[in-house]
Amino acid sequence: MTEPTARPVPLHETNPFLAVTAFFERAADHIGLDEDIREILRTSYREISVQVPVRMDDGDVTVFMGYRVQHNGARGPYKGGIRYHSSADLDEVRALASLMTWKTALVDLPFGGAKGGIQCEPHLMSEGEIQRMTRRFTQAISYILGVNRDIPAPDLNTNAQTMAWIMDAYGQRYGFTPAIVTGKPIELGGSLGRDAATGRGVVIIVEETARHLGRPLEGATVAIQGFGNVGSWTARLITELGCKIVAVSDVRGGIYNAAGLDMTAVFAHAAETGSVVGCAGTEPVSNDDLLLLEVDWLIPAALGGVIHARNAEKIAAKVVVEAANHPVTPEADAILNERGILVMPDIMANSGGVTVSYFEWTQNIQMYRWEEERVNTELRKIMTKMFGDVEAFKDSHEKATFREAAFALGVQRVAHAVRLRGYV
Ligand code: NAD
Repeated sequence: MTEPTARPVPLHETNPFLAVTAFFERAADHIGLDEDIREILRTSYREISVQVPVRMDDGDVTVFMGYRVQHNGARGPYKGGIRYHSSADLDEVRALASLMTWKTALVDLPFGGAKGGIQCEPHLMSEGEIQRMTRRFTQAISYILGVNRDIPAPDLNTNAQTMAWIMDAYGQRYGFTPAIVTGKPIELGGSLGRDAATGRGVVIIVEETARHLGRPLEGATVAIQGFGNVGSWTARLITELGCKIVAVSDVRGGIYNAAGLDMTAVFAHAAETGSVVGCAGTEPVSNDDLLLLEVDWLIPAALGGVIHARNAEKIAAKVVVEAANHPVTPEADAILNERGILVMPDIMANSGGVTVSYFEWTQNIQMYRWEEERVNTELRKIMTKMFGDVEAFKDSHEKATFREAAFALGVQRVAHAVRLRGYV
């Protein structure tokens, strides 16, 4: 019998829900959570799968599958984005919904956690097809949505326009309801500062982490994977701190310049061509190799599971900031910890988006608009307080990593709300 040559890929690396559950269980152990509450928190409250038939431009009908998972609503209405991606199956959406529960609790917002998705390839679809798909999906899930029930937002491959269609489709049935989604266009009740919020939050976490480590940001090198909403805003705002971005990428590939990219040229090239690839004065770098660059700050801002047991030994960054959701698997997390590479977890790093979504929701309920300066000031206040809460938890639990501390705080708050509500 021949020996297998390749190590089997651990289940955690192929199933995002198992990966997120592993982080949850570790946090639950840290705070000595009772088994009955654990059982409630490791499963979702409600999961729905819906058929989304769409008449395509060529006259044929394609049936997509759509999902909305409401993980836990003990602290408030369910809140979480909707993504359009070929990997958006029930396990992925379930994983992301539970992450939202811990995230909203960690930043202490009056929300629970949810996520939605349609398994599709939007880059192969026309705008009309995407609009018809969005409206049909909204109709199918509308009875579990509501301003005090469940409020979607943008995520991978969805944006302010998608939110406008959701608001309109929902409004056709229930009347004008801007607070039913966040991340809307400003003209329809969106919040000033929402578009930049997730990237702005990532950069606040970078600043706080640099303070925690006592390291300067001026001249620090940065690599960012993903140049969509989160990656591009992170790039824009981190440059203002004097950091030197040496590599960025998108789905088509990456670009690199050891002396620092000319970000004005990169933004102009991306606006003109739809990709960063091919920008003058840069060398190509693959998405895989970008992750292995020797930089001070590595910021994955695209897909989940990109840092795994097979590349974690080769990561050469000093700090990894998880702008994307679950970009680091539990196995890779353990390897990075052992190697002394600091990881700032997603529920801290990308919580700026849901925080400003909360501001948008409150503005819509009050039918009032805040100035952008107020949005940004309040965002910083909430995120620095959250960072301080996590630091304090770490101080009292000497061995806890930032991830363990952040998850433990989030889980503790949700468990407390579950008990107060009398779920068990
Ligand atoms: P987006 O659709 O605006 O951008 C995604 C970017 O990733 C694009 O540049 C795309 O080209 C790139 N990309 C796609 N596939 C890739 C691949 N295989 N390799 C490398 N790059 C690839 O999405 P977004 O809103 O910026 O979300 C990015 C991540 O941030 C997701 O994990 C999302 O869950 C997370 N997130 C987003 C928000 C938000 O407010 N938008 C909030 C919290 C977390």
